[in-house]
Amino acid sequence: MARCGKYHRELVLGFAGRCSVPMWQGGVPADFCDDPAFGRPEERQRRYEGYVPGLACYGHGGPSPPIKTVSITLSLDGDQYCALYGENIQEGQAGFGDTPKQAIQDLIKIMP
Ligand SMILES: [Zn+2]
Repeated sequence: MARCGKYHRELVLGFAGRCSVPMWQGGVPADFCDDPAFGRPEERQRRYEGYVPGLACYGHGGPSPPIKTVSITLSLDGDQYCALYGENIQEGQAGFGDTPKQAIQDLIKIMP
C-alpha cells in the first residue's frame, strides 16, 4: 500500500498539498486521491463522511481553493494600450496592444 506522504499532511509553502483520501481497488487501499488540497476537512460543514488521514481536496470535504486577486492598471501609451501589473513599468510587468483586451492578453503571457 502507498504510504501517506509529507505533502498529504502539510501545506507546501503554506499554500497547497495533496488530498490524502485513500482510493480503493479490489477492496484494498491502492493510492491516494492526490487532487490539490488547501487544508484539512472543515469540521463544521463536513461534506465527505469517509476516512481522511490528512489534507483533503474540495470534493473530499476540504476548503475551497484560495483566489489570488491582482490589480492591473490600464492606460493609453501613445497609440497603444498598456496593461500594467505593479507600481510602475520599471518594477512591474506590462503588456501592450491595440485594444485593452490585447494589452491584458499580452500581459498574461508574461506574468509569472
Ligand atoms: Zn480528494
